[in-house]
Amino acid sequence: MLLTDRKKKLTTFYYKCSKASTYFCPGSIKKLRNGTVVIIKPHEGHVSEQNISQQLVHNFCDILKRRASTENISLRSLYDEESRRHVVAAGLYPWSTAESLMRHARRRSLPRLPNSLLDLATLFDNGKLNNVS
Ligand SMILES: [Zn+2]
Repeated sequence: MLLTDRKKKLTTFYYKCSKASTYFCPGSIKKLRNGTVVIIKPHEGHVSEQNISQQLVHNFCDILKRRASTENISLRSLYDEESRRHVVAAGLYPWSTAESLMRHARRRSLPRLPNSLLDLATLFDNGKLNNVS
């Protein structure tokens, strides 16, 4: 058992660029068992598709975060609306993943809640909660 585990840990996977034959690209990486990716040779002659995807997802996240924190419509409809505009990015970044990011962005945009009942009472005494009463 122990030996098998040790062997597994030593296993390294090698990948070469999927566009190698089209672009004569020497790009290659190795992926260690613990998930670390080491670049052996960077891409040459073309832009890495993964970079493009990462950029797409990055932009998509920015839009989702911005809208979640500035608009009041439900996060789900917001996501659905944006995913129709950014079809590729939405395919890479599904709602199940986006949900917590968006919730977080929205939570941060809300006014801070009083820390305690005492704080709340102080706010009340100062007349700051008149619109509630
Ligand atoms: Zn390449």
